[in-house]
Amino acid sequence: MQPKQNTSIVWFTDNLRAQDNCVLKMAMTHSKQVIGVYFLDQKDFEKTQFGFKKTGKFRAKFTIETLQCLKDDLANLNISLLIFKSSTQTDFKDLIRHCDVKTIYKEKQWTNEEINCLESLKSQLSSDIEIIELFDQFLFNPEDAPFHYSETPKVFTQFRKTLEKKAAVRPIAILQAQDKSGMVKDCSVFPNLQTLGYEDFETDQRAAFVFKGGSKEALKRLEDYFFKSKGLGVYKKTRNGLLGPNYSSKFSPWLANGSLSARQIYWKVKEFEAQYYSNQSTYWLVFELIWRDFFKYVSLKHGDAIFKLDGILKKEYIWSKNPKFISQWTEGKTADDFVNANMIELKKTGWMSNRGRQNVASYFSKNLKQDWRIGAAYFESMLLDYDVHSNYGNWMYVSGVGNDPRDRIFNLERQAQMYDANKQFRNHWLKNRTLWN
Ligand code: FAD
Repeated sequence: MQPKQNTSIVWFTDNLRAQDNCVLKMAMTHSKQVIGVYFLDQKDFEKTQFGFKKTGKFRAKFTIETLQCLKDDLANLNISLLIFKSSTQTDFKDLIRHCDVKTIYKEKQWTNEEINCLESLKSQLSSDIEIIELFDQFLFNPEDAPFHYSETPKVFTQFRKTLEKKAAVRPIAILQAQDKSGMVKDCSVFPNLQTLGYEDFETDQRAAFVFKGGSKEALKRLEDYFFKSKGLGVYKKTRNGLLGPNYSSKFSPWLANGSLSARQIYWKVKEFEAQYYSNQSTYWLVFELIWRDFFKYVSLKHGDAIFKLDGILKKEYIWSKNPKFISQWTEGKTADDFVNANMIELKKTGWMSNRGRQNVASYFSKNLKQDWRIGAAYFESMLLDYDVHSNYGNWMYVSGVGNDPRDRIFNLERQAQMYDANKQFRNHWLKNRTLWN
């Protein structure tokens, strides 16, 4: 075993948890003292090329709550979490120098904005500082897959079956508190909504679920959905629902910023199965987590192509950018009431069901024929659970430029009839529209 280094930094990104965190575990194994760092960059709250804020108010609030919880959880491990505006901030450089940091550990990310952040950090550091990156956002770690990610199968079923057969989910990483002397003086300023440029707000009373950021809330939801309501046991039957807290797990916002890991969910499913029963529903939740992995492997394989108009399929269509159509869609004022109800739910809560997302995305790209990346950018801004791989992967898929070579289009009328036959969902969001808007 190598001797422990003195002080190292864990740079938290979208792995905002102090449990089952392999990056943190590695840092703690190899260092006498670990300091946590998070960069809350103002540019993540500014408008992007299509005119939407990169992070809207829902995710901004959720992120702040998550950071507060992470700070508390890390303090229980005697680790400080310092929040800086960027790696160029003088205080951050002072910290590196003052603590004689030689190693920075971080979760491996591969999309272009994240790579740019890493490059910017590297340019601030002296060449003797090492950056160690680990994959840690998967159910099946790419290092355990029987194929290199560049050989990721095109078809989901083949991907899933291969991993189910030939790879295993790693056990939970157990972390033990470091020595109390490891805490450092925290001069960083903890953010709030106002400092990020938003006004405080209350959750819309019609919301399907009241989301609160942080691992504690994530673990509570896990316990509630699996063991209290036993929603897990009927998930396959309810997962296409539109109303209420338990038609689906609602894990995605916590998964997206890493305050909950896919492994934690997987091992809880196994616990449930050992204690109660296993059925198609308990399997199906894991099945959906493999979809999540799939889009991550797809983006690893194809790099920046996931952000291109012709996608990974390199398929060309005629797209337009009609400001009227776009604003009718974002405002929930299109000619289709099922689309409208879903879009209003998103605008008012930062949430939309999977069924809703598929329909509104298909309507945007296939009926209105608008540049699908504008729809994806709006989702990026609004969604509580925005995840670059799942978002762009699903948008490509629905828009006919992703993994599915078939150019499919949702029959909105049929979908509304199947999933909202008695108009309960549409009435929920549209009936009192003038009252609420
Ligand atoms: P559940 O049905 O309970 O599923 C459990 C978990 O499995 C989810 O939390 C999620 O991590 C994963 N999962 C389920 N379905 C999918 C899927 N189709 N693709 C990838 N992972 C899946 N999901 C995001 O997490 N972030 C996004 O930015 C995002 N953008 C989307 C955009 C479009 C156009 C579409 C059609 C889907 C998008 N999804 C996205 C996938 C999916 O809609 C959400 O993951 C799901 O609705 C979250 O609700 P849940 O946690 O209750 O899911």
